[in-house]
Amino acid sequence: MSSVVAVETGHEVVGHYINGKVITDTERTQEIYNPATGQVIRHVALASKATVEKAIAAAAAAYPAWRQISPMERARIMFRFKTLLEQHAGEIIALVTDEHGKVLDDARGEFIRGLEVVEYACGAPELLKGEHSKNVGRGIDSWSEFHPLGVVAGITPFNFPAMVPMWMYPMAIICGNTFVLKPSEKDPGAPTYIAKLFKEAGLPDGVFNVVNGDKEAVDTLLTEPRIEAISFVGSTPVAEYIYQTATATGKRVQALGGAKNHAILMPDADMDSVVNALMGAVYGSCGERCMAISVAVCVGDTLAETFVEKMSSRVAALKIGPGIDTENEMGPLISQQHYEKVRNYVDLGVEEGADLVVDGRNFTATEHEAGFFMGGCLFDRVTPDMRIYQEEIFGPVLCVVRVQTMQEAMQLIDAHEYGNGTCIFTRDGGVARYFTDNIKVGMVGVNVPLPVPVAYHSFGGWKRSLFGDLSAYGPDAVRFYTRRKTITQRWLSDSVERAQFSFPDNQ
Ligand code: NAD
Repeated sequence: MSSVVAVETGHEVVGHYINGKVITDTERTQEIYNPATGQVIRHVALASKATVEKAIAAAAAAYPAWRQISPMERARIMFRFKTLLEQHAGEIIALVTDEHGKVLDDARGEFIRGLEVVEYACGAPELLKGEHSKNVGRGIDSWSEFHPLGVVAGITPFNFPAMVPMWMYPMAIICGNTFVLKPSEKDPGAPTYIAKLFKEAGLPDGVFNVVNGDKEAVDTLLTEPRIEAISFVGSTPVAEYIYQTATATGKRVQALGGAKNHAILMPDADMDSVVNALMGAVYGSCGERCMAISVAVCVGDTLAETFVEKMSSRVAALKIGPGIDTENEMGPLISQQHYEKVRNYVDLGVEEGADLVVDGRNFTATEHEAGFFMGGCLFDRVTPDMRIYQEEIFGPVLCVVRVQTMQEAMQLIDAHEYGNGTCIFTRDGGVARYFTDNIKVGMVGVNVPLPVPVAYHSFGGWKRSLFGDLSAYGPDAVRFYTRRKTITQRWLSDSVERAQFSFPDNQ
C-alpha cells in the first residue's frame, strides 16, 4: 500500500497513516515543492481536528495490548523495522532530497543517524529492566519499574524530515507507548513512507500513526486529554508555545528549540583543519541545521584576518545546485518564503554595518533558475548588538565576531539566549577542558564542529534551546517516555508482626 495517493488535483497527495491504513482527507491540502526546481511536486493533506482525533483513538485502542507485549517481542519488531529501513534506504534518502533539497550524501547522513536510534531502541529488554533492591528492611524487597505513559505525540520540523521523527517514536514505542506523529507539512513524504515499513515489520495497527497537518493538527494534540506527553522539535517561539500550552493541560513536555551555535577559534588552532571543518558545519544543508555553526568567534585579529581570507575563497567556490547531483556540496533553501527571510537578514546585516565579505544573494543555479538557491554568505566584523548576531537566520550565512581573549569569547556564548551547541578549536588540552567545564551550552565539541550526540547519549540544548527537563533519544528518552512505579513488598513469615505507629525506618 502506498502512503501517497493521486487525486483530482493532478498531483499526488501525501495522506495520513492511521490504524495501519492510508487516509487522505483532501478538504484542506498544501503544496509541497521540490526546492531545487521551485515546482510543486505533490500536495499534503492537512488533518482536521476530527482526523487527529481518529488517530488518537486508534493509538488509545492499541495501547492496552501493546503495553503488555514483552520488551523482547517489541525489540524483535524493531529489529525487523531496522532491516526494512536499510532495504528501503534509497527511496527514503531520495524522498528527503526531493522535498527538502539537501544533497544526497547529507540525506544519507541524517537517515543513518535516525537508524542508529532504531538500533538503540532494539535494546528494549536491557533498557527497561528497572531497578531492584533486596532486603531494604528485614524480609522486605523493593523495586522500581518503568511504566509506559499511554498515547504520546511528536511534532517535528522540516530540516530533518527522516531523522528527527526517528529521535522520538522508536524510543516511545519500545517503552510500551503508542504514538501519533505530526511531521513538518513542508516535507512529509519520508516520515509517512516509513510508517508503512513499521507495519510491514509486524507492528500492530494503531501503535504508530502519522497525521499530516498544520496548527489545527498541532493544537488538537496539545489539548486532547488522551495524549499524555508531547515531544517537539522546531523553532523557539513555537517550542515555547507548545511547552506552555501542553503543560497547562497536564502533559509531560520536551520542546527543543532554535540555536545560534558559536565556534571559538583559538590562535593555536590548525587553520586549514578549521576551515575544512567549518565549511561543512556552516554551509552543509544550506545552514538549515539546528547544530550548524553560524558564528565564528576569532580570538585575536591576526587569526581573524587569516581565517576570513581562507574561508571566503572557499565559500565563494562552493558547488551549489540540486541535491540529486552528487557533485554539489550545497542545495537550495526549503522554500521561497524562507529564501526571502534569509535574504532579508543579509540585507539587514549590511544595514547594521557588518562587512559582507562574500555575498551570495544573487546566486542562481544554471537550469534551475526557479529553485530556492542562495550562495554562501560571510560577514566579518559582526558585533553582539546586531540582529544578525542575536537571531537565528537558519541559512548559509556565517557571522565572524572578533574578540581579544578566550574569556571574552565565552562570555558572548554564555550571554546568548540560545545554548544548543558550541565548539572550540585549539591544540591546548587545558583550554579545552576549561571550556567544556564552564560553558553554558548543552552540546560541546573540542575540534569537532557538529557535536551531535550519538544514539546512546541524549540530544538537548540549554537555555532557550530546550523547554523541559529531559533531552531527546538515548537514556533520557527512556525516562521521558516512562513513569516510575516503586513497589515495596513483604511476604508474611512465621513471626507475627506487632502494629507499628512510627514512620518506617528500615532498622
Ligand atoms: P517550526 O517551529 O516552524 O515548525 C516545527 C513544527 O511545528 C512543524 O511541524 C509545524 O507544523 C509546527 N508549527 C509551526 N508553527 C506552529 C504554530 N504556530 N502552532 C503550532 N504548531 C506550529 O520549525 P521549522 O521551520 O520546521 O524548523 C526549523 C527550526 O527548528 C529552527 O529553528 C531549528 O533550529 C529548529 N530545530 C531545532 C532542533 C533541536 O534539536 N533543537 C532540531 C532541528 C530543528
